[in-house]
Order: sequence, then C-alpha cells, then structure tokens
Amino acid sequence: MPNKKRIDHVNQKLRGIIQYAYKHSVAVRSKLDSVRLKPKDIQTIKDLEKIPVTKKTELMELQRKNPPFGGFEGVPIHELRWIFISPGPIHEPGEVEYDELGWAQGMYAGGFRPGDIAVNTFSYHMVPFALLMVDNSLHRIGCVSIPTGIGNTEQQVNIIRNLKANAYCGTPSFLLNIAEKAEEMGLDLKRDLSLRVGFVAAEMLPESLRSKLEEKFGMIIRQAYGTADVRCLGYECLEKNGMHVPDDKIVEIVDPETGKQLGPGKMGEIVATTFNKTYPIIRFGTGDLSILTETPCPCGRTSPRLLKILGRVDQATKVRGLFVLPGQVDEVASKHPQIARYQAVLTRKEHKDEMTFRAELKEDVPQPETLKEEIEKSIRDVMKVRGDVEFVAKGTIPEGAKKIEDQRTWE
Ligand SMILES: [Zn+2]
Repeated sequence: MPNKKRIDHVNQKLRGIIQYAYKHSVAVRSKLDSVRLKPKDIQTIKDLEKIPVTKKTELMELQRKNPPFGGFEGVPIHELRWIFISPGPIHEPGEVEYDELGWAQGMYAGGFRPGDIAVNTFSYHMVPFALLMVDNSLHRIGCVSIPTGIGNTEQQVNIIRNLKANAYCGTPSFLLNIAEKAEEMGLDLKRDLSLRVGFVAAEMLPESLRSKLEEKFGMIIRQAYGTADVRCLGYECLEKNGMHVPDDKIVEIVDPETGKQLGPGKMGEIVATTFNKTYPIIRFGTGDLSILTETPCPCGRTSPRLLKILGRVDQATKVRGLFVLPGQVDEVASKHPQIARYQAVLTRKEHKDEMTFRAELKEDVPQPETLKEEIEKSIRDVMKVRGDVEFVAKGTIPEGAKKIEDQRTWE
C-alpha cells in the first residue's frame, strides 16, 4: 500500500481495537479511565500519546494482583487454547485461531517459501514462541515444520540431514552450535546439509556471526524482533535494511521519560500496540531502544523500519535532549584503531550539556589535530550529538572505567 493509504488503514484498525479493548479488557479500560479518556478520543496514531505507556514491570505487577493476565486479556479465559509462562513470570494467553501476520511476513520476506521443510529449534515449553507463533507462521506460508525444540545438537544435525530440511528457525547461537557439531561429525555443511534459509530471533545477531553462518552453510539468514507479549515488531527483508514493522502492529519511538513520540531518525524506546483481540495490549513499553525510518526500502515494502536494536532504556543517558549509549561510544572508538582506552565524559557548562570523548592513544600520531577532527566526525555520525575530543596521557583512564561518565550537577 502507498504510505498514506496504509496509515489510514492502520488508524482504522486502531480505532477498532481501542473500542474492543475498552469493552473487553479490564486493564485497558482502567488505563484509559485513569487519564479520563474515552475510546473516541483515540482516532489516530498521534492520539496514542495521550495513553500512558505500560511498562513490563507494571504488567508483571498487575498480573500478580490479578492472575493470570492482569486483566489485559480480551476474551474469557475458558475461550483460550493455552496459557503460556515467560520469565518474570509473565503469562500470555494463546488463542484458538492464530491469525497474526508479523512472523509469517518476516519468514516470507527472508526467503521462506511454500514447501520448505523447516526445523523449529525454538523452545516449545512454557513460552509461546515456538508452538504458537513460529509453528503457525510456518503453516501459514505452507512450510512443513519439524518441531525439534532446543538442544540435542547431534540429533538435530541428523534430522536436518535425513529429512533434507532446507530452512532453520532458531537463535543464531544455536545454529552455530549445529555448525560446529556437524563439522565435528565430519560433515561438509554445504554438501551434506541443505539449509538454504534461516529465520533467527530472540538474540542479538552480530553481522560477523551472520556472515560466518551464511558462508559456512551457503544460506541466507534474516532476523526478526518482537516480544512474547506484543509479538512480532520488525523483520528484515532480503535487502537487510533494518526491520520492517508488520502490518498488524503500531510501533512508536518515544521519549521513555515522557512517552511522547519522537520523529523518524531519533533514538527512543520502542512502544508497541497490537490489534490482537485475545491480548489487546495498547502502548507496551519494550524497554528496547531503536530508531524508526520511513525512507523507502528497495524491496518495495512501504512500511516504516526499525533500524537495529541499539540497547536498553536503562543504559541510556540523555545529552542535550538526545539519548546516548555505551555501545555507541565503543562504536566510535572501533572506527579509529589508534585509540587504546576511551571514555565519554558528560559535564555542564553555562547550563548546557557538554560531552568530551577522552582517548588514550596507542602511540603518538603525526597529526593529532586531523585525528581529532576525524573522531569528532565519527561522534556526530554514530551518536548524533556533538562532542569534543581530548587526548589524554596513558594511564589517565582507569581500566574498566565507565564508557559514559556522567559528572553533571544541576545546582
Ligand atoms: Zn525491505
């Protein structure tokens, strides 16, 4: 759909789920009542800002008080097929007819096709991912699922080989275990196994690990992102160009302190709203940080995309109104091999935040001013915030120093 038409479609679905959830979910109703809202006050994605974000801790607390789902369920419990249990513990209801699109869209976008034979190595116990979401999504595409679950690596290798499985669903680290085990068994990963596509989730996927696995097996690996509560929130297409938001979710990037939406290109917390009538969670705060982009993707999908997951809200520090993360400090340093130790220091000067990137160099460089300018450019590129660079003598930055040292005072 063209962007405008898609937004109209999503707004219409939003009005529908708000009406439904207000009527059927005790938790959603009391959330809206607490800020004196009626369903008619929520007409568009922008209106969602009026509803306070529900954080995971709050969901857990409400579930403890009012088990099993804290009043977030949108159907009577006897109409469910499953009750799942995720770490926390948090309970998730499982519906009789699974009709969510996201994970299936992600698998298809990553190259899964009807007739593929897939090992599903996600855990089938307690949690909803393998059984409810991945299995049903494979079925929706027309793939055949082999419900192997996690573990038993040698047996998994034999299953993949004997049943000529060509698709993998699981974590990237478990696929690496399979590769190592198969090699130990004397197998040639490309010749003896026929894995062609991989759908990975539930873990970070470093690019180095992705290319290593793709190379070893001769396969394509794409990742998806979501949570057990709100399910799929993003998936990669073959362009490997960030993660497309599925058509049955609303993903906002917000300031975690105020819950207000930040525009495209700004880092903030991923907050999600689902159209799932069984578990209609409105504005769930994932605690994960990312950036949303609306630039067109060459694959032709018009949905907005989440750039990679950058970190957790509780690791982030605000500088001049923008969030910065320890991982970004590492990324800046990794672009300049001359740097030995480094640290970003935040201070206040004339009521303004200042960020100084302090670096110890491995050895003296001929033109330190040029290197300084290069590092300052990397800071702007990576952290989207201006920072000064200061070279300090060896031994100034203690071993194991904080990546971001906040020395600001607000007297
Ligand atoms: Zn795309």
